[in-house]
Amino acid sequence: EQDVSEYKKSLAIRVSGFDVPRPVRTFEDCGFSAELMKAIAKQAYEKPTPIQCQALPIVLSGRDVIGIAKTGSGKTASFVLPMIVHIMDQPELGKEEGPIGVVCAPTRELAHQIYLEAKKFAKAHGIRVSAVYGGMSKLDQFKELKAGCEIVVATPGRLIDMIKMKALTMLRTTYLVLDEADRMFDLGFEPQIRSIIGQIRTDRQTLLFSATMPHKVEKLAREILTDPVRITVGEVG
Ligand code: ADP
Ligand code: MG
Repeated sequence: EQDVSEYKKSLAIRVSGFDVPRPVRTFEDCGFSAELMKAIAKQAYEKPTPIQCQALPIVLSGRDVIGIAKTGSGKTASFVLPMIVHIMDQPELGKEEGPIGVVCAPTRELAHQIYLEAKKFAKAHGIRVSAVYGGMSKLDQFKELKAGCEIVVATPGRLIDMIKMKALTMLRTTYLVLDEADRMFDLGFEPQIRSIIGQIRTDRQTLLFSATMPHKVEKLAREILTDPVRITVGEVG
């Protein structure tokens, strides 16, 4: 069993920003629905990882977040669980079309992992998740998106293709996650990312995760996030 306080000492978590909500100690502290708690228990997640303790209450409060942490710290659940809550809170749920939550990741492998994690928790509330990345038939993807979904997990290039094919609109998207932003930049996706963001309403909640914060990523973060809380785990540059 993981002792969060010990973990925290060794990892040195820094949180900065205005009026930052206090960290949680348990998933019970998060106020999740009974259905979501059951899905968490099914994953055998006993307690939140250190980054989840910090990030969950902040993201649940609706704040924008910059999360700087190496892989393996449990970032996925820290944006997926609040995304489910965000979607359940939407008054127009079931009435309009297009995803409410959009997650961009650099590679199809990463997008697929996030897709699987999102599906585990989305199922609890009958929320539909679509994966949009290369290696799958564009026609099948088009049909799936046309059928409707609340969450899209995508690589930037393929998402742009689908938008161009009018498989989806992002008119009701209010929750945007950029995962592994530094790798997306390394892979040359900056123009695609900027194009995607340009199509999403500005009153959205935006979360940006990155292992490192090179100047270009920092610049994007400054442009697209509003009063973000910055969470840094460990010695990352
Ligand atoms: P990151 O995105 O930071 O690299 P992941 O979200 O992929 O990390 O999580 C790393 C691993 O930890 C995954 O196998 C995930 O299922 C597991 N995990 C995430 N949160 C918890 C938790 N609270 N308790 C136990 N395992 C967890
Ligand atoms: Mg990750």
